[in-house]
Amino acid sequence: MPHFDPQSALRHAQKAAQWAGLRYSRESTQSRAVRNDAPEKNETTREEGVMCEVLIDGHFGYAATADLSDTGLQRAFDQAIATTNATSGHKVHAFSDAHRAAVQGAYESPTQTPLAASSLALITECLLTASKAMAIDAKVVNRSARVMVIQAQIDYYSTNGTHTTQRFDMVDIAVAATAAEGMQSQTRSWNHTGQYGGEVFDASVFAQQGLRVATEALELLAAPNCPSGTMDLILMPDQMMLQIHESIGHPLELDRILGDERNYAGWSFVQPTDFGSLRYGSPLMNVTFDPTKQNAMASYAFDDGGHPARREFLIEDGVLKRGLGSVESQERSGLPGVANFRSASWNRAPIDRMANVNLEPGTSELQDMIASVEDGILMSTNRSWSIDDYRNKFQFGCEHGHLIKNGKLASVVRNPNYRGVTVDFWNRLGAVGKDEATYGTPFCGKGEPSQVIRVGHSSPPCLFRGVEVFGGQS
Ligand SMILES: [Zn+2]
Repeated sequence: MPHFDPQSALRHAQKAAQWAGLRYSRESTQSRAVRNDAPEKNETTREEGVMCEVLIDGHFGYAATADLSDTGLQRAFDQAIATTNATSGHKVHAFSDAHRAAVQGAYESPTQTPLAASSLALITECLLTASKAMAIDAKVVNRSARVMVIQAQIDYYSTNGTHTTQRFDMVDIAVAATAAEGMQSQTRSWNHTGQYGGEVFDASVFAQQGLRVATEALELLAAPNCPSGTMDLILMPDQMMLQIHESIGHPLELDRILGDERNYAGWSFVQPTDFGSLRYGSPLMNVTFDPTKQNAMASYAFDDGGHPARREFLIEDGVLKRGLGSVESQERSGLPGVANFRSASWNRAPIDRMANVNLEPGTSELQDMIASVEDGILMSTNRSWSIDDYRNKFQFGCEHGHLIKNGKLASVVRNPNYRGVTVDFWNRLGAVGKDEATYGTPFCGKGEPSQVIRVGHSSPPCLFRGVEVFGGQS
């Protein structure tokens, strides 16, 4: 890095601001893709810059720059100061520097081998191995394997003595096989996403997963369409992830409840008066915000306002306790929240984001949950979703369905879907598995201007009683 002096820039800002903060971030993303045994993409993007933040007259304001020189940083602070002076007369709340308490600390992703040591040759070999492993039948017409390798650093400094540094190693792997015959096609996929190092690039795992998804895509192609009706539903963790994300994570974001996102990402059915009393789900439902989850995509020690992050219960024994809102939203709403003030890039101001939101494991074995179902279906892996802008009525589709008859897995069905209304659905939670799995995505969108950010979700398999299930176009 060339000359970079955050303290000198902060001293400059302090001449005109009550408080100033500076967030430096640097990120490199390598995207590799192979399709039908041919390398298709080999792209690296890098970004680096600083977000300058000031507090004037109880109002926070921002300006960003990619010019890290003293002059560049001072210019950005001058711009943040001018903008904040001009807009503080319209502030929605009066804040103080107590909302940016001083902290020091560091965080590093828990990797076994450094991501930086994974060669392009090794990654390409894993992707090619997956692609070749999917070539088991001429009906498997699309065999894709891709990986994103992300290395990020976020350092935060402030005039009241904050200095934190965090380094993240992340991977997002997706392997998918599409089988087609006539007008019908079916896709089966495998995703592996989280804070990992080079240990994930094991060609034998890619071969095994490639063979599995191709085999299951062919099985789905030959399977009957999912029947329609009200039945018991078991969701595997790779669909629970989406169910948690859309019907718990987004509706509990306090900025949505306050109306900030109404224009773009939507509002929430949750009212401020619901905290402490709303029976969100059955007593088996325990949901946490957990930035300490090992290897989860959105684990961190401090959010982008320097607030120390810790595990908190959002929903306990089915009752709504806490929202997904940062210090500023907590102050505005008077509601309890979490450290989730996060930005997607150096050039974006932080907003409330869900980060890791998990359904805590219960006590049931999957086989016992299946055995308890007379007439039902087990669904895996999200394929499609639709939910209203209050996060209330939803309709989700999965890649794979397995009917359950008299306590036993029966035939595989294609195009399985289910629908529900959030609180009614979660109150149908009849059993929670004991073994969890962790999934995530780098692609949760929110905010104007748009911010695409990383989230993680852990969950065991879960059983819901009496859900409306239906098939697709056959
Ligand atoms: Zn999202």
